[in-house]
This record gives sequence, C-alpha cells and structure tokens, in this order.
Amino acid sequence: MSGLVILAVFAHPDDETVCSGTLVLNARRGGRSVVLCATRGEVGEIRDPTLATPETLGQVRERELQEACAILGIDPPRFLDYRDSGMAGTPENAHPAALVNADRAHVLRQLVAAIRELRPEVVITFEPGGLYGHPDHIAISQFTTEAFTRAGQADQFPDAGAPWQPARLYYCTFEQERFRQFQQRLRQPGEEAPLPTIGTPAAAITTRVPIDEVLALKRQAMLAHRTQVDPEGAMARAQSEELRELFRFEMFIRVVPPLQPGEQDEFFSDPDGR
Ligand SMILES: [Zn+2]
Repeated sequence: MSGLVILAVFAHPDDETVCSGTLVLNARRGGRSVVLCATRGEVGEIRDPTLATPETLGQVRERELQEACAILGIDPPRFLDYRDSGMAGTPENAHPAALVNADRAHVLRQLVAAIRELRPEVVITFEPGGLYGHPDHIAISQFTTEAFTRAGQADQFPDAGAPWQPARLYYCTFEQERFRQFQQRLRQPGEEAPLPTIGTPAAAITTRVPIDEVLALKRQAMLAHRTQVDPEGAMARAQSEELRELFRFEMFIRVVPPLQPGEQDEFFSDPDGR
C-alpha cells in the first residue's frame, strides 16, 4: 500500500466535492492530497443570510473549504487570488480580477510553480465542459491542462522551480445518465423546469473509483460548505440510498497517458483501493 501525491485544481470552494472520496482514500493509503482553489467563490450563493454577506462571502468560503479538507483528513487547501467570475452571462464576468479575465501567463506560472513544488504523480481538474458550463470551471480545466505539460518543460517558466512532469492527468466528472436519474427522482411534484445536463456520457468515462467506505465523510465535508448547501435542496432531501447510488463511484476521464485499446484504468494500483 502506498499513496500518491495528488494535486486537485479547482475554481471554487466546494468544487472538490466531485472527487473528495478519492482524495480521502489516497490520504488513507499514506498519500498526500492537495486542493488548489483558484478563487474563493466570492459571488456564489448565500443560502442563509446569517452566514455571510456579499462582502464577507470569500472569507467565509475560504474557511468552509479549510473545514471540509480537515474533515476529509487531507492537506489544508491552497488558494490563488483570483475572483469568482460568476455564472455565464452575469455582470461578474466582466470584473477585472475575475479568473476568466486573468492574464494567462500569470495563472499558468502559479500552477506550474505549484506542480513543481508538490511534485504530484496525479493532477485532477474538471472535464473541459466544467460539469455544467460554469466559466471558471471551463477556465481552470484549460489552465490546468496546459500547466500539466509546461511544468515538465525546462524552458517554460524557468524561475518557477525545477521541471516536474506528473505522470497522469485526470478530468473529474459525473456520469451524465446517472445524474439525470438522480435529478428526476428528486423532483418535487409540479417541478417542470428542464433539467440541466451535467457531466459526461458514461461511454467517455475511463475510470471509476469506488468510494463506498468514505461516503459518509464525503457527505459530511460537502455539508461544511454551509453557504452553498441548500437545506431544502436535492442533496439535503436525498435519502442515503439515493446518495449512495449517485456517489458510490467517483468518475474520471484519464487524459494522460491516453487509455490504450482494451486497457482498464486503475486509479490506485491495487484494484480494491486499499
Ligand atoms: Zn464551482
């Protein structure tokens, strides 16, 4: 049994929930799991006005992610100092500090420096569609994919540490069909708005990590994001069996190295994840 160094690069506190079970399993194997978050989710929702104001939301969400990582038993999170760009089509998209308006080389340099410092074997980020099209999710997927390659090249950002090429790049995602079933089951009578398409078709998923044994911890860490989790929402309404059905595997697309024909990817080298 030996753990990996995993660097998971996301846009907002709570994004890490998509792969938090895998991060826990790695830590339990003696590995190191680090979440690097590009923004503090400053323009996210405030489900309960007693928890934060628009002015304090970034600080509050920073603490929520710290708490979530402590619950998961992984490294404290790291942050880049960009601003949440908001959902597509909102005025926040135009804020000069927004991640989507950031200087490309500036972002890449910081990601390359983090990779060279931490020397991960595995880098994880969102699938290119950002799960459901959030501009920051799409941006961080692109930045991380580029930094993954450039970190290993000596002529790239030579003042950002010694070159280090991580062995594997994964995009994390949901299985689209499974998520759709979950959305449909949780619909309240009379809810008719079209369901958003979330995740990736099952056929494109290369890697399923069973996380049954840490599912309770995953849920507990998710609920630490108190400003974001709607107490009346689908996650809170979901019965444990429904959550288990949705979350008992975490889904990835292995991008580097590409899967060979007939190859079965095992995220951890021994198949039962222990
Ligand atoms: Zn997000």
